[in-house]
Amino acid sequence: MKRLWSLVLLLCLALAASAGAKEVVLTTDVLVIGGGGAGLCAAIEAADRGAEVIVLEKMPFLGGNTLISGQAMNVVNPKTQVPAGIEDSIELHFAQTLAAGDYRGNPELVRIMIEGAPAAYEWYERLGMIWEDTVFQIYGALYPRTHWPANIPPGRQGAFIRVLEKAARERNVQILLNTRATKLLRESPFAGRVYGARAVDKEGNDLVVLAKAVVLASGGFGANVEMRSKYDPRFGPDVGTTNHVGATGDGILMAQDIGADLVGMDYIQCIGVYGSPVSVIRPGLVLYINNKGERIVDEGGRRDAITDAVLAQEGQMAWVVADQHVLEVGEPGSGVLVADTLEELAEKMGVPAQAFVDTVTKYNSYVEQGFDPDFGKRALEAKLDSPPFYAGAARPAVHHTMGGVVINSKTQVIDRQGEVIPGLYAAGEVTGGIHGTNRVGGNALADMSVFGRIAGTNAAIEAIGE
Ligand code: ADP
Repeated sequence: MKRLWSLVLLLCLALAASAGAKEVVLTTDVLVIGGGGAGLCAAIEAADRGAEVIVLEKMPFLGGNTLISGQAMNVVNPKTQVPAGIEDSIELHFAQTLAAGDYRGNPELVRIMIEGAPAAYEWYERLGMIWEDTVFQIYGALYPRTHWPANIPPGRQGAFIRVLEKAARERNVQILLNTRATKLLRESPFAGRVYGARAVDKEGNDLVVLAKAVVLASGGFGANVEMRSKYDPRFGPDVGTTNHVGATGDGILMAQDIGADLVGMDYIQCIGVYGSPVSVIRPGLVLYINNKGERIVDEGGRRDAITDAVLAQEGQMAWVVADQHVLEVGEPGSGVLVADTLEELAEKMGVPAQAFVDTVTKYNSYVEQGFDPDFGKRALEAKLDSPPFYAGAARPAVHHTMGGVVINSKTQVIDRQGEVIPGLYAAGEVTGGIHGTNRVGGNALADMSVFGRIAGTNAAIEAIGE
């Protein structure tokens, strides 16, 4: 096997060398395309198996959407849930995830993600992550099993990438920033194998990376207006995005170019109430109010339901309203409306005061009785009765693209005939078929962690053996 590989590499080198004099050619065991969450998880696992690893990252820094995400990961975890009186199980998380995606997720992959999340949680701990010892339900999570890193200096934000980057660098993973992969190499005479990628650096120099296995971890396409509106025309240029500018679907297009199959491309998730200066991270502390002063949806419900409810309102916007309980989550941002009474807040929002006060009074009675007959909200954490009251305007913005390349349980990429594409693995938002129509809030980090680790492990085994 080793000899065959040397031969393949020599042939590749010869081909590459004849292609252009200015090209730089690198060789490695495992090439990872994309230095976000999934890519770094893969790189670490591959390095831990003894593989040489190169990561290509097109941006000037690592992290992608994982860096700017809410840092929230869903894990079934008796350590935090039992003390809080929360009953949970792998089966419940599995069933809720499948149902929330309208059963369009591949059950085999969903199970792998859910079963792998507790192990990933502990793996992060071994890499140095300090978790908050409480559990909560992040926006769109549908159940209190969300965990996040402790808010210790330099802060919670970016914690996953900090931990992963440090671990990758400690393992001598070679990280090339400002280096954009442009093409996967799969030409004959290598029996259909993927054997590397072409890339360009910041100066426009061409690079060829020859590898024994490739992991595609280049994220989704939420920031690519043309691509996302091709699959869902509602998400044209007028709709914003929470994504980093590099989320342009490059990996999906590169994989498609060499025959990969795609799934679920029109399942595009919005944060339904984006841009609010009042945090929506804990749905149990906020209400979404329309211009008539009414609630519009279960604030603790599915993200697609919230998006659809907001898009159905006049002006396609909603007010996120909270009281001082929301300060537990963070200070309101600029543009927030603040008032000491609900009437005053209504005036500032320009909504009918009496209707608004009635809505909040009714909601407070639901919290007291633990039942919301209007929308069936279960995340009834606190009454809105402690001034000051806050309101912020919010609109839908594209957040996660659930579609992408088809993978099997080993994260091997599958072609349009249903066959494995040898040498190519994929993990994270670049893949499809896991979250179905609607991703559960907090499941993306479980997805990228679990499948990133599997991809790195299997790519290393393919490259250098067990
Ligand atoms: P995931 O959660 O799936 O890891 P992220 O958005 O966190 O997704 O990470 C994807 C990373 O891939 C980002 O850092 C992004 O800049 C990078 N990336 C996207 N396209 C390319 C490309 N063509 N070449 C190299 N890196 C890329």
